[in-house]
Amino acid sequence: MVEVTARALNRPFTYGIPPELQGGVQVGSTVEVPFGPRRLVGFVLEILHDPGAEALSHHLRPLLRVLDPTPFWGQDLLGLADWMRRFYGCTWLESLQSAVPGPVLRRARAARAATRRSRTRSLPPAEPVAAYPEIAPNRAQELALEAIREARAVGGTVLLHGVTGSGKTEVYLRAVQEVLEEGRQAVVLVPELALTPQAVERYRGRLGGTVGVLHSGLPDLERREQWWSLRRGDLNVALGTRSAVFAPLERPGLFVVDEEHETSYKQEGAPRYHARQVAFQRAAQVGAGVVLGSATPSLESYHLARQGRFRLIELPGRPGGRPLPSVRIVDMRAHLRRGRLLSPDLGEALRDRIAQDEQVVLLLNRRGFASFLQCQECGFVPTCPECSISLTWHRARGLVRCHYCLHQEPPPEVCPGCQGSRFRTGGAGTERLEAEVQELVPGVPVVRMDSDTTSGAGAHRRLLERFGSGQARVLVGTRMIAKGLDFPSVTLVGVVRADAELHMPDFRAAERTFQLLAQVAGRAGRGERPGEVLLQAMDPEHPCLLAAATHDYKAMFHSEMAIRKEALYPPFCRLVRVLLTHPDPDRAEAEAIRIGRSLSAHLRQARVVGPAPCPVERLRGRHRWHLLLKGPKVQELMDGVRNYLRPPEGPDFHVFADPDPQSLM
Ligand code: ADP
Ligand code: ZN
Repeated sequence: MVEVTARALNRPFTYGIPPELQGGVQVGSTVEVPFGPRRLVGFVLEILHDPGAEALSHHLRPLLRVLDPTPFWGQDLLGLADWMRRFYGCTWLESLQSAVPGPVLRRARAARAATRRSRTRSLPPAEPVAAYPEIAPNRAQELALEAIREARAVGGTVLLHGVTGSGKTEVYLRAVQEVLEEGRQAVVLVPELALTPQAVERYRGRLGGTVGVLHSGLPDLERREQWWSLRRGDLNVALGTRSAVFAPLERPGLFVVDEEHETSYKQEGAPRYHARQVAFQRAAQVGAGVVLGSATPSLESYHLARQGRFRLIELPGRPGGRPLPSVRIVDMRAHLRRGRLLSPDLGEALRDRIAQDEQVVLLLNRRGFASFLQCQECGFVPTCPECSISLTWHRARGLVRCHYCLHQEPPPEVCPGCQGSRFRTGGAGTERLEAEVQELVPGVPVVRMDSDTTSGAGAHRRLLERFGSGQARVLVGTRMIAKGLDFPSVTLVGVVRADAELHMPDFRAAERTFQLLAQVAGRAGRGERPGEVLLQAMDPEHPCLLAAATHDYKAMFHSEMAIRKEALYPPFCRLVRVLLTHPDPDRAEAEAIRIGRSLSAHLRQARVVGPAPCPVERLRGRHRWHLLLKGPKVQELMDGVRNYLRPPEGPDFHVFADPDPQSLM
């Protein structure tokens, strides 16, 4: 007998194994099963040998055939999927499917007999990679490596805290080498690979042909090939984004989570897993070590390290004593009336650096020419008819657009409020910033990177190459440019609105702002010449900006921890967010209130906050309400939700629970 879970089903079912298939079925095999009048593709979860149930077996319907005998999952990944479905409150299938890349699964389903062919077809030979030479570790790096060895021996975790450029990657590379020398394997997670081709080059350049790369930006064929090579053990290091935490390695000895604070490690749809959490779980199952690295660790991780639950290793500076860039805060209140994005200070610094043939990065976390149109007479701002947010003005397209649902329309000619016809552009985006730069340094080539200019295949790479090769002198962009770029001749970084996100309705707003500023500041002065950073802000005395200006993570940590403790937020508790949506505002509200009452009555250990409308009250035509559950253990909160959240009756309700939510919008 086998227990099988199939697509479209939420629980396992039991089937018999017909004699001709005996021996050909393993845990993890893909099989075809009868289900009512239909045939479904399923995955084998367990082979049951219980003789007591044997008597039943002739009532069981038999498997029809084995589509792919090679199991997708070893016992350990099945165990992990089982844990995940309970911890994150998702179905078996959601859990299993998140562990295998879509192209691998689709292939298996379409498989029938064709599977073999696909797997033997090989890719064109990989382009040669430049060797990335060995560097003798310094003392801090030696200490880190020693701590990682100890952590591996006991299944522990090391938190590596070091500013950008302090040599963390060098530590990961060596630690991975040591694991490989012992005959074990490693998983290295990075938040983003499409934007950081340099990362792949470094790992392949040092570790050679044993590195497999897994991320959704790869073409299907290549993704399948890499996945199966890891599965077969031809490759021993899995380098990839979030879902690479499920890389099908048999003997993982080390999990590296680089930039562990990044929100991209959290999956937004079900299962709502966090790759860092899954790495802990998987490492514990197989007896592996975990290394978390960051210049700006999440408050949660740093707190655990200070409590002694993780080993904290600090890399104090950049190798060779290269100084961190000097950071200056520009008070924008004085310049409000000029109606320009660039203050005179930043404008001057820009001209200066260009005159000296250096490069400049300017960050503005917003796209479009201006963020909204506003009636000059009555202040009316066009908003999305489906979502409760202002529409963004895109000058190049001559349209206003919603950045949540992509609704677009021509700009209003006449104000629906007052019949006025004069509109001004409020806020401003990267497009206008680019125009201002061109005014200041005419004829100097500028590259703009935001989701408008990078939507085409390979666009990121092309734009980055234009800047990296020195062809363009100025790089203008949204937060996507803050990630991982390493261009030695960048000596000036300007952040146009450093405090833009400080007042977002999210308890992590200050932490996120600090992280972004520290990261983007790390782009300056990576080469010989010292770097400079200018932060423009309306609130120049905010503790978070002052901490960023002095590169003082601990100052930010302590000031934020005081607030979190006071208001009871992580790391002083765990959260589960319950989100409910419905097209009708009254029904959404009424059900949210009902659910809130019932959870408050039953969850004695938890504190229930809300319900309240979400900051984004309406999205794609649905009204959104949420509740926050606070308690010491996520599992307890999720058990409470499972036991006491009775789903609303009636069609069109969506309700889900998000454990350890990373977004409260
Ligand atoms: P991080 O990952 O913390 O940003 P990297 O590992 O990328 O830092 O190191 C930053 C730069 O310093 C790289 O160019 C790297 O080659 C160099 N580097 C790292 N460790 C050393 C060392 N021990 N001695 C000299 N240079 C080093
Ligand atoms: Zn919309």
